[in-house]
Amino acid sequence: MSRLVARLILAMLILPVAGAVFLFTAFVMFPGGGPPPPSRVLATWIVEYAVIGTYWTLLWRSSVRWTRERLLGTLGVTLAALLCGGVGAVFIVEVTHEAIALGILIGGGLVPIVWVFGTVLVWKENAQERLERLKTYGTDTVSCPVCGYNMTGLREARCPECGGSFTVDELLTAQQNREEELEQS
Ligand SMILES: [Zn+2]
Repeated sequence: MSRLVARLILAMLILPVAGAVFLFTAFVMFPGGGPPPPSRVLATWIVEYAVIGTYWTLLWRSSVRWTRERLLGTLGVTLAALLCGGVGAVFIVEVTHEAIALGILIGGGLVPIVWVFGTVLVWKENAQERLERLKTYGTDTVSCPVCGYNMTGLREARCPECGGSFTVDELLTAQQNREEELEQS
């Protein structure tokens, strides 16, 4: 099993893990019969956020490139998620006139959903980063030195586009020159 597949399985496991933590927190750490007071619902969510935030961050930390933009984006996603939860809770209580505890219960559930989806968007690599990563793996493309046609995967050093024929060392030199140009630009 590759590292990525293992990670994707662990990523899907966040749902049952989050559910188990919620039930454990709600019924074991904060026992008591009857409808829970708002403070206990809020405390249950805070424990849940800590577990989900830690789990998700540890899972993807090493594969995310932590640029300044990404750190600020993560902060923004966190604030937006908390705001969504707050607005949701206020909506439930003020508009549907439900109990405050129910408002916090439902509004609080929005926070991890918004946060996880937000981090997926903020943490994924952009096109430029992907190109750089592929280059470091040595899977960069080989191009025709004359017309720039992508010659990757060809079995002979002859360009099917412009008909130019090259020796292997000519292709290698052209490739090195191109990489130097890319680095300087
Ligand atoms: Zn060519």
